[in-house]
Amino acid sequence: MMPSTAARVSTFGTTIFTEVNVLAQQHGAINLGQGRPDFDAPGDIVAAAARALEGGQFNQYAPGIGAANFRQGIANHAAKFYNLDVDAGRGVIVTSGATEGVFDCILGLVDAGDEVIVIEPYFDSYVPNLIMAGAVPVYVPLHPPAWTLDPDELRRAFTPKTRAILLNTPQNPTGRVFTREELTMIAELCIEHDVTVIADEVYEHMTFDGAQHIPMASLPGMFERTVTVSSLGKTFSVTGWKIGWVYGHPDLISGVARAHQFVTFASHHPSQEAAAFALSLPGTYYEELQAMYLTKRDLMMNGLNAAGLKAQTPQGTYFVMADFSDVFDGDDVEFTHYLIREIGVACIPPSPFYCKEHAHLARTMARFAFCKGDDTLREAGERLAKLRR
Ligand code: GLN
Repeated sequence: MMPSTAARVSTFGTTIFTEVNVLAQQHGAINLGQGRPDFDAPGDIVAAAARALEGGQFNQYAPGIGAANFRQGIANHAAKFYNLDVDAGRGVIVTSGATEGVFDCILGLVDAGDEVIVIEPYFDSYVPNLIMAGAVPVYVPLHPPAWTLDPDELRRAFTPKTRAILLNTPQNPTGRVFTREELTMIAELCIEHDVTVIADEVYEHMTFDGAQHIPMASLPGMFERTVTVSSLGKTFSVTGWKIGWVYGHPDLISGVARAHQFVTFASHHPSQEAAAFALSLPGTYYEELQAMYLTKRDLMMNGLNAAGLKAQTPQGTYFVMADFSDVFDGDDVEFTHYLIREIGVACIPPSPFYCKEHAHLARTMARFAFCKGDDTLREAGERLAKLRR
């Protein structure tokens, strides 16, 4: 007899991001797969991290719930942008990235056997997180090409067993920014059925063309039933730091904190000092970030359009979903392999972001990340043009 892995992880494969990274490297493809900037973070933020490392004061454990000045920065940010009254003492937890934050929320707020609504296509860690917690995912797909929710489908997903809904806005991978009407519809169902919202808002500062990010926690009656997860990685181009946070009503956050203390206990301390600095930057920082990503989005859209790929222009995030059915015969995984090997561009096939029953909904789609240098995006566009010929 050999020791074997646990049943709870037995269905998990390697994440699609790791798989595509390996393939892209093997074939020298331009990697528009994983959402990882290929440019550096702002120099003053990196300098703040270096100072924190060298000062000798921050090389031991941070408080489990996070450094006090960083938690205050998170509360100030929520007040400044969304007029939310977050308690920096009892209403904020610092986590090792939003990925840990979402898992802590599930562990701290959902019981085994509870149903949790997941909107498809979903970020890939959500469902494994639910499975590890013994919860039951209930899937509600967004409908292309505009990636809209069907209110009746959503309503039917709520049952007496529903404990929570995982909501991501701006949404990875579709680039949707949910409107006030959509959020109100979701909020009303959550209030009616006494359901908690786990709101993943890591792309909160990446919106375009006047689309407005509206935090679920800011809707009437929702602050007390929403935990909001965000992070430093996307907003400050430091995805490698793995610094995230969760905020909400202290009664909910106490559950999240109980889970967090036995998952990582505390997160990287020097990065939290730099994070406090980053959150103190003026509003112009965010305006420049948006302008930078608007240019990148347009370069990406031009490349996709010229190649004959059809895509809904994303209102937010640094991702776009494109339909390749006019230029390629096959499914999303076959297209991804073809694109990496023959065209020299890597993308992400979205079928891993769906349950088995719904995977066909994205059969002719691929996700492209445009958090890359402008020249890289232009070069990718030139390579993609070969698809049309
Ligand atoms: N958020 C990133 C993406 O969607 C990837 C994060 C990860 O690799 N786990 O590409």
